Amino acid sequence: MKDLMKIDHLSTYFVNGTDQVKAVDDVSLRVREGETVCIVGESGCGKSVTAMSIMGLVEEPGGKIVNGEIHFEGRDLLQLSKNELRTLRGNEISMIFQEPMSSLNPVLKIGQQIMEPLIVHQKLSKKDARNRAIELIEQVGISRAAQIADSYPHELSGGMLQRIMIAIAISSSPKLLIADEPTTALDVTIQAQILDMLRKFKEQSNMSIMLITHDLGVVAEMADYVIVMYAGKIVEEGEVVKLFQNPKHPYTQGLLKSKPVINQRQDELYSIPGQVPNPLELTESCYFHDRCEHCMDICRTKRPELKEVAEQQKTACWLYEEALVNA
Ligand code: SF4
Repeated sequence: MKDLMKIDHLSTYFVNGTDQVKAVDDVSLRVREGETVCIVGESGCGKSVTAMSIMGLVEEPGGKIVNGEIHFEGRDLLQLSKNELRTLRGNEISMIFQEPMSSLNPVLKIGQQIMEPLIVHQKLSKKDARNRAIELIEQVGISRAAQIADSYPHELSGGMLQRIMIAIAISSSPKLLIADEPTTALDVTIQAQILDMLRKFKEQSNMSIMLITHDLGVVAEMADYVIVMYAGKIVEEGEVVKLFQNPKHPYTQGLLKSKPVINQRQDELYSIPGQVPNPLELTESCYFHDRCEHCMDICRTKRPELKEVAEQQKTACWLYEEALVNA
């Protein structure tokens, strides 16, 4: 599969006076054509800021991309003008956010909100855009499409609104869809329907998906490749089956252990002890050392690099450093 997007050494920081938060720290990844890459981790691990950096939504003076390159079909997105980026966003890259209610304009009818990008980016006439909007509403599985087009967001349920967000996102047949926790606010049956829909659109158009989630059930259903982030850094990545069958990093192991297992009685669900470290208090240590049951002396003073530990699997953990293991 050909690379669609390649991120090299991306670092995005937020600055408040003398405080500096490394929200994304030296992250490199790629998404290939037709592939679903899931980025997983707890809140505050840098998943959403990675997505915002790709979309050009990190605003100065608070936030700043301080290093790195984001190549999309050969173009470095960080070198594009605001206009070029806006055009790319409306046509080739789309994003779905977690909270549809806060992404949609409450005073505009649903139809108008779907029509707007069709008129601006695809230059459709008002009449054609309206027809296409109704088609898109039907395509995302909502009946009475014309009536829904004339409704306001507050008249629809959370699941319907998320479908509308998907309709807007796929209206331009994007090559890459970034979905940031698209099912978190929904109940499980609607969640399953939304994921099915994303899979269907992906298969129909060979679209790539970057899916951000903290839910390993969603990862298992959707991912081809998984990236695990912790405190702004990638700590493990790999092909989904390998990562689920043989997670190497203690953080990934903890995440998988925290997942409930069907048909297995558990009196208490496991949770990783402790908290994600305060981003203002990060040191040169492995950021996970306070929570890791395998922590060694070296982990407290030196951070391990992400290295290949098996075919199509990389991890950043001293446990897999040969010299250390053989010492
Ligand atoms: Fe645990 Fe050390 Fe590996 Fe960090 S480097 S995850 S502290 S064993």
